[in-house]
Amino acid sequence: METNSFDAIVVGSGMSGGWAAKELTEKGLKTLVLERGRMVKHGEYPTATKNPWDLPYGNRITQETRKHKYVWSRTGYPTPANEHWMIDDLENPFVEEAPFDWMRGHHVGGRSIMWARQSYRFGPLDMEANGKEGVGVPWPVTYDEIAPWYDKAEIFAGISGSADGLYQLPDGKYLPPHDLNCVETDFKRRLDDKLGRKLIIGRCANLTAPLTHNESPQRGTCQARNLCIRGCPYGGYFSSVSATLPSAERTGNMTLLADQIVYELIYDNDRGKATGVRVLDAKTGNQTDYFAKIVFLCASALGSAYIMLNSTSARFPNGFGNDSGELGHNIMDHNKPGSSNASVEGYLDVAYTGRRPNGFYIPRYRNVGKDKRNYLRGFGYQGRAARAGYARFNDSAAIGEDLKKEFQEPGPWNISMTAFGEILPYHDNHCRIDRDKKDKYGLPLLVVNAIVRDNERKMEEDMKNDAAEMLTAAGFKDVKVRSDSYNVGNSIHEMGTARMGADPKKSVLNKFNQVHACKNVFVTDGSFMPSSGCQNPSLTYMAFTARAADHAVSELKKGNL
Ligand SMILES: Cc1cc2nc3c(=O)[nH]c(=O)nc-3n(C[C@H](O)[C@H](O)[C@H](O)COP(=O)(O)OP(=O)(O)OC[C@H]3O[C@@H](n4cnc5c(N)ncnc54)[C@H](O)[C@@H]3O)c2cc1C
Ligand code: SF4
Repeated sequence: METNSFDAIVVGSGMSGGWAAKELTEKGLKTLVLERGRMVKHGEYPTATKNPWDLPYGNRITQETRKHKYVWSRTGYPTPANEHWMIDDLENPFVEEAPFDWMRGHHVGGRSIMWARQSYRFGPLDMEANGKEGVGVPWPVTYDEIAPWYDKAEIFAGISGSADGLYQLPDGKYLPPHDLNCVETDFKRRLDDKLGRKLIIGRCANLTAPLTHNESPQRGTCQARNLCIRGCPYGGYFSSVSATLPSAERTGNMTLLADQIVYELIYDNDRGKATGVRVLDAKTGNQTDYFAKIVFLCASALGSAYIMLNSTSARFPNGFGNDSGELGHNIMDHNKPGSSNASVEGYLDVAYTGRRPNGFYIPRYRNVGKDKRNYLRGFGYQGRAARAGYARFNDSAAIGEDLKKEFQEPGPWNISMTAFGEILPYHDNHCRIDRDKKDKYGLPLLVVNAIVRDNERKMEEDMKNDAAEMLTAAGFKDVKVRSDSYNVGNSIHEMGTARMGADPKKSVLNKFNQVHACKNVFVTDGSFMPSSGCQNPSLTYMAFTARAADHAVSELKKGNL
């Protein structure tokens, strides 16, 4: 029992688990981090330095991969260069009552290794909307309360960006921004002149300059190799394995165990506290209990919901902390029903120099200020302009000298962009556990049922029409707006299963991410989000995790936990 006891347990080692581990260990807590997937240490990225010709099948996946990674495959993400970060869906089944693109990475670092690093703050517009509109529950935290924690997360992670002075997208503490290229710069000007809409360079977690601190000295600046999803040996982008976990390790206070599936919280009814977690070893099937004063659930929005729903007791017959009946409900993601592109004439004297692991961002402008639509909330676009690559020769009729000559020039410019919109928190969008269906470990399966509804469909009209309007107004040609078939989960921003709120009757967590009904359990992944904004959410998980850890340690010191 002695060796199984710690001050804190963190479940999951991805984006939020890494932050919890760093903050808790730096504050002196002996912390056990439990990760259900395999061990990965910074630098252990098997394909990171492989050349295109070193990758099998021209870097295209096989039918076998398609079969095993069927959820991932329907989104087009896996390639031989990155598929080792994507779980085998056959081995990790769940029940899709409605199709749900649940894209999981089970390994140390979680999806922080694979993310596209876009990092935007939620602002007052996002955090006040639920309260003003009577949707879901109001955020119990104001923007001013979380702003200093955003500062902390941005400085440590190393987010690059520009200060743009937009109310709907507050500025942060940034490393120098990447540059917009010539086409994007002209697009920006024309959008502003003709439609009064702003275009900015993406804010992203790639180091455009050395960090301003030495808390994670193993990181070098980004070399713009654009191979980030494979893992970056330079530590050029923020991930748990390049930044937070090494910082936690340096304290000497972290024990990190891989291949450990947490399936239940242990609850002491007499003390009204969680005393630890119950774990299955993924390799041996052995069961172990680990004990701690506080538990941080950071297993991702559906992963943490699963553990809580599976933790039933006399006190919590419907799932851990589920007095409100909201646990597992209000699943959100981002509305992403298509993309648009156009060809760009001219600019052929400008070579497309270098690569840039970033693109442009058009921040939300709908339902901002005087703009009022027939739906709630809004959307932003992420995109880039680039010169066509050599794939264009697939269709070329040229041979011999002509082909060689054509090869010497990059192709014409084109521009593409995708809208990400807010999805409202609907109680009916939910997950639950089916105890009659089991996985290979004998654990019951998660059932997921989430769809887009009227508000998102109305928004979709604007997303498409506005894209066409903007690309046309900029003078681009062959404007195409594509409607993609799309399932919730496809934006990989799942949120909301254990929302925070001031009223315990309507929410699962309080304003410090503590379970209302059991204060020594904190949930700091996307589960806590009361609304989804339209910004990529991971930076918000980092900020709230750091704040929750600070609160946890101070409450622990006061003897309140
Ligand atoms: C291709 C891609 C692009 C993305 N781009 C962006 C972007 O540009 N910006 C952005 O903000 N976000 C982006 N995201 C989303 C981002 O990766 C997630 O929001 C973020 O990683 C979620 O953090 P998390 O800690 O909740 O979960 P994760 O990072 O997924 O970590 C959860 C960890 O918990 C472990 N775990 C789960 N269940 C258990 C259990 N029962 N026991 C023990 N361990 C468990 C998992 O194995 C995993 O390691 C992207 C994701 C992908 C895949
Ligand atoms: S673009 Fe930068 S962060 Fe990405 S893999 Fe290359 S060097 Fe690393």
